[in-house]
Amino acid sequence: MKLCDFVIPADIDEARARLRELGDAAFPTAGGVSLHFLRFAEPKTAVDLTRLGLSGISRDNGRFTIGATTPVCDLQKHVAEGWVLDRVARRFVTQQIRNISTLGGNICRVFWWSDFPVALLALDASVAVRGESETVLSAEEFLARPLKLLKPGTLVVAIDIPAVESGAGFGYGKETRVGSSFSLATAAACVVVEGNRIKQARVAAGASLSMPQLLPAVGEKLAGETADREAIEKAVATGTEGLAWKGREGMSDPYAAELSRIIIADAITDAVAEART
Ligand SMILES: Cc1cc2nc3c(=O)[nH]c(=O)nc-3n(C[C@H](O)[C@H](O)[C@H](O)COP(=O)(O)OP(=O)(O)OC[C@H]3O[C@@H](n4cnc5c(N)ncnc54)[C@H](O)[C@@H]3O)c2cc1C
Repeated sequence: MKLCDFVIPADIDEARARLRELGDAAFPTAGGVSLHFLRFAEPKTAVDLTRLGLSGISRDNGRFTIGATTPVCDLQKHVAEGWVLDRVARRFVTQQIRNISTLGGNICRVFWWSDFPVALLALDASVAVRGESETVLSAEEFLARPLKLLKPGTLVVAIDIPAVESGAGFGYGKETRVGSSFSLATAAACVVVEGNRIKQARVAAGASLSMPQLLPAVGEKLAGETADREAIEKAVATGTEGLAWKGREGMSDPYAAELSRIIIADAITDAVAEART
């Protein structure tokens, strides 16, 4: 995509004003990595979002709030009890792309290979969107139609996730051909275990589906089951029936389905193991 100008607003109000003024001629730019994949007929003006004070991670009341322009490398480096996005960040492409790509940019234009939407769906994250007023949407609502919600001058300002605390666990699984290539199958799971049983589970998958999506049927099948591999595989097999799997990079669709079921079961198994420790 061709850029013809670059503006660097100093705060959110100025950024929103410039974006409204420029309308469709603006390209709100965080890391700018998606420019590699996008094609527009007309050149655009880049409106830089990285100096609006929207970068950083804070914790309050058992939840983490992550500013929209926080780079993936900061998610990778962050250490705190209950913090799990470092595991997703470590599987995210290459260090160079982790250094410039932002969490907001990764969820505002979702590609089939996108990692963070899968994790945020499983974590039941919420997304704060600033237009004339601030609206907080569930990750599920936001990710169903990000481009429709983000009218000119509307920005994602923060993402909120729970800390994964005692009795709960998180797992993230991803398959790629080589470390630096696109995701071929991704899965995230967040579970609560009580004794030997899974009390509650939220599971999401992507890459070998048309877009990242929550798999509520898998969560329902897991609830109340014994927390062992056999029960997990059975819940994944029955809970993913009928999904339209898509093979990438030479994989057939049935191969993608089989691979994805293994990656999903692995993510749930990891989450259960963590919940038990
Ligand atoms: C070779 C390659 C392989 C990749 N593989 C993967 C992969 O396997 N998994 C993965 O997850 N990612 C992968 N990526 C990166 C991914 O596809 C995205 O392009 C990247 O995460 C975008 O982040 P960004 O901060 O650069 O966003 P930008 O490119 O700056 O923005 C992306 C979109 O979101 C909008 N936007 C950004 N921030 C905001 C905001 N705060 N409010 C409103 N709108 C906003 C922009 O206008 C734009 O439309 C890969 C990239 C490359 C180059």
